[in-house]
Amino acid sequence: DNKAGAALTVDSVVMEFDGFRAVDDINLSISGSEVRGLIGPNGSGKSTTVNMLSGVYVPTQGKLRWKGVDVTNYPPHRMAAAGITRTFQNLQLFHELTVLENVMLGFHMHYRTGFTANLLHTPGFWREEKRYRDESIRLLHFVGLADKADEQAANLSYGQQRLVEIARALATRPDLLILDEPAAGASMFEVDNIVRVIRKVKQSGISILLVEHHMEIVMNVCDTITVLDFGKKIAEGDPAYIQSHPQVIEAYLGG
Ligand code: ADP
Ligand code: MG
Repeated sequence: DNKAGAALTVDSVVMEFDGFRAVDDINLSISGSEVRGLIGPNGSGKSTTVNMLSGVYVPTQGKLRWKGVDVTNYPPHRMAAAGITRTFQNLQLFHELTVLENVMLGFHMHYRTGFTANLLHTPGFWREEKRYRDESIRLLHFVGLADKADEQAANLSYGQQRLVEIARALATRPDLLILDEPAAGASMFEVDNIVRVIRKVKQSGISILLVEHHMEIVMNVCDTITVLDFGKKIAEGDPAYIQSHPQVIEAYLGG
């Protein structure tokens, strides 16, 4: 099913921690179904930006607008319900649960702040069990892991676990999917799978904000790349432009 895509405007956003500006006056706009890269050195403010966009942090200053609505103060479950969902830099799967159960938990992001395995024992969860199960199996097919549905999550490789996280995030039916380092810890072979899935997600009409250190992935799949350094945006443009941008090369890409 195709979606209208994202319409996100980040307007002069600042995030301070005890007076330290982790994000310093960033403007950003994502629309249509694009893959937007967000890159920069460690500590440049990428995860902090993701945390604001997903409602984990409320910006110290500035506004977040989504589909014309001011979502600056939305908590995570309202962001997810509005269509912005994210995965985490550190994997957040339940190792003791099956792959399928982990994906099914994604259906609760609409009204919960985070994931908890207890949801599986919550009255009401199993009322919708069949629908969640069918949809989760469809999502596992989508990411190429249908044959692993009944495996314990712990038995999957790191890259496969990343794909399970993406499937779970897709269960919330986002218009904007934020991926924080989806290829961290993945093997070369798994990186190819992650790239393939990112392309499929985009083709289905969902926008992606991709935080990633593997430059071959970023340069391959992104339509536009935004570069941060010390909490500020230092460049924005297509992969060819970014790769030849002197300030980006100096701050991040290296010689
Ligand atoms: P990146 O994801 O680009 O590596 P982060 O957004 O995680 O960078 O961090 C940006 C800066 O903000 C870093 O200097 C980091 O130490 C600081 N920072 C991030 N989160 C917090 C926090 N909760 N409290 C204090 N400082 C933080
Ligand atoms: Mg980070």
